[in-house]
Amino acid sequence: MSLHKHHVQHDAMVLDPAFDGGVGAIPKHRLPRTTQEAGAAMRFVRDELMLDGNARQNLATFVTTWMEPEAQALIQMSLEKNIIDKDEYPQSAEIERRCVNILANLWNAPAPTGGTDAVGCSTTGSSEAAMLAGMAMKWRWRARREAAGQDATRPNIVMGANVQVCWEKFARYWDVEARLIPLDGATHLTAAQAAAACDENTIGVVAVLGSTFDGSYEPVAGIAAALDRLQLDTGLDVPVHVDAASGGFIAPFLDPELPWDFRLERVQSINSSGHKYGLVYPGVGWVLWRGADSLPADLIFSVDYLGGSMPTFALNFSRPAAQVIAQYYVLVRYGFAGYRRIQQRSRDIALYIADGVGKLGLFTLFSRGEELPVLAFSLTTPDTWSVYDLSHELRSFGWIVPAYPMPEGMAGVDVLRVVVRNGFTYDLAEAFLADLAKSVERLSGKAPARVAFHH
Ligand SMILES: *Cc1c(COP(=O)(O)O)cnc(C)c1O
Repeated sequence: MSLHKHHVQHDAMVLDPAFDGGVGAIPKHRLPRTTQEAGAAMRFVRDELMLDGNARQNLATFVTTWMEPEAQALIQMSLEKNIIDKDEYPQSAEIERRCVNILANLWNAPAPTGGTDAVGCSTTGSSEAAMLAGMAMKWRWRARREAAGQDATRPNIVMGANVQVCWEKFARYWDVEARLIPLDGATHLTAAQAAAACDENTIGVVAVLGSTFDGSYEPVAGIAAALDRLQLDTGLDVPVHVDAASGGFIAPFLDPELPWDFRLERVQSINSSGHKYGLVYPGVGWVLWRGADSLPADLIFSVDYLGGSMPTFALNFSRPAAQVIAQYYVLVRYGFAGYRRIQQRSRDIALYIADGVGKLGLFTLFSRGEELPVLAFSLTTPDTWSVYDLSHELRSFGWIVPAYPMPEGMAGVDVLRVVVRNGFTYDLAEAFLADLAKSVERLSGKAPARVAFHH
């Protein structure tokens, strides 16, 4: 089965010899029979890539689309390094340890693990991190049940219907019942809902710091408190995992008073995406545990390291070290003050765009950027056009702004979402708002479909 539709007759792409320097016909879906000249092959691939969207106008992704030349140089310099070869690249392993310790301190892991020996590792992203954290919860729950002579065959995991798809993947791949709680009056999971859904088979509750749907923070402290009460009332001791894919690099800098992390005793593990607000190009995530007790020993494997062995916990074996090195560079380079300034600017720009959207008088804003630098808005009253039409219209100006339905519990509500990242400027925000206004005018038939070009 092919996942893509292709026009068979265009299987071979014929390039003009005046342009391609003699590449000729290169088949697209079969290995070429002959060798190409490096420069020509590079041009061929690069021309294909030009059809991809423009990252600067992509308001859909949370993932980093700009890094400094110095970071790019370090990435270039370490492209051949394999993070699993701890013996061959001990300094890359050391850098990964330092990153884990820095994050443990940032997320207030209790001493002694918060010092220099934190429990955690890098991953490919938050999805792999979710698999590892989810497995640790399942293993701990099963060990507890088996030790008590209780049935351990029907685990469930409690989370809001707004969780990122990686948690549904975790549940399906690891055979855990996904208790997806429909939204009820909020755009995310609430404390009362979380506690009410738990039972003796619950391996944990996932609280999201920064819902992908609208950027809102779930009330992690409230969820933890509700689970504390549940334990007092019933004896059930249900751990919390915080999916801080985005918020893990926002809240410590912009909301330092908000307790969402290891300050809450019930929080056993946290994941975050280094390649989102961690400000690194795609390919790095992090998962940390409260301490050694939170991570079952039988999930840990050893790899050779300087004549000895080093514990590892990962799904993949080989993985690039470059992204971890780039993460360390960014942490060292920006420091707390730099991250704070960058994230604050993203939040300010999101709030600025939210104001502009509000002034159009047509939209209901579910978020304005006051938590993650993200805003989500729907049409207040149904019109002859939808947010999907608006998304399409914005595309004609080059803007990539996704429209999608809100999850179960808010069925029928369709939103547009704007994600502000480092590299997005006030100038771009103004250009976006102007194009948004033009798009709305076109759709409402208030302006001719073609706007004349004059200033
Ligand atoms: C992006 C995201 C994920 C998945 O993270 P990747 O790093 O893309 O694998 C999981 N949870 C949340 C809340 C996210 O925003």
